[in-house]
Amino acid sequence: MITIALSKGRIFEETTPLLAAAGIRALEDPESSRKLILPTNRDDVRLIIVRATDVPTYVQYGAADLGIAGKDVLDEHGCEGLYQPLDLQIAKCKMMVAVRDDFDYEASIRQGARLKVVTKYVKAAREHFAAKGMHVDLIKLYGSMELGPLVGLADAIVDLVSTGATLRANNLKAVEEIGHISSRLIVNQASLKLNRPLLQPILDAFSGAVK
Ligand code: ATP
Ligand code: MG
Repeated sequence: MITIALSKGRIFEETTPLLAAAGIRALEDPESSRKLILPTNRDDVRLIIVRATDVPTYVQYGAADLGIAGKDVLDEHGCEGLYQPLDLQIAKCKMMVAVRDDFDYEASIRQGARLKVVTKYVKAAREHFAAKGMHVDLIKLYGSMELGPLVGLADAIVDLVSTGATLRANNLKAVEEIGHISSRLIVNQASLKLNRPLLQPILDAFSGAVK
């Protein structure tokens, strides 16, 4: 039995065509089903539905053979025990630094101000500002980072941006790009050795569907 770890929402939606290319179809919709283990049309494949940030953990410990997770999530988690064979080119966005519309980011850097930054991506943010030689105070949040600068919790946010509509709706502007984000296929290394006959055709179908 092959277990694939996915998160609900955009990852599940954008993965559906890739699964179809591998001949795999969920028998229930995770948005409406309360089940955490979803059967598929194939007796030898099941899906588990977990939080996006938990996907690497299930795969690392072998509770799932395969998973799909954003580069943001993988960079924060680390890659121990995980084989990352494929960029699936889905759930694309950018990790950005953003501030209030009326905040002069460049000037405050020139003045050497010590900025307060809220983010869910503490590791990526720490590395980004360290590489720029900037001293910042990082405050960890678990969601709605955009609120931080609006209520005086922080000067800046580090968050994922796709269209920028959420930033604009909250009078924020992006001032720096940290990197491009997309979702990756991850594979448990031991499982790949043991289950290669079952896994390899799925990996090949995914890779064919991406190109
Ligand atoms: P949760 O909702 O459980 O807190 P989450 O917000 O990380 O988790 P999603 O919003 O479904 O879950 O995001 C899943 C992945 O999709 C992220 O890890 C990221 O790689 C990608 N992603 C996040 N925001 C966007 C976006 N605006 N556009 C495209 N991809 C995105
Ligand atoms: Mg989200």
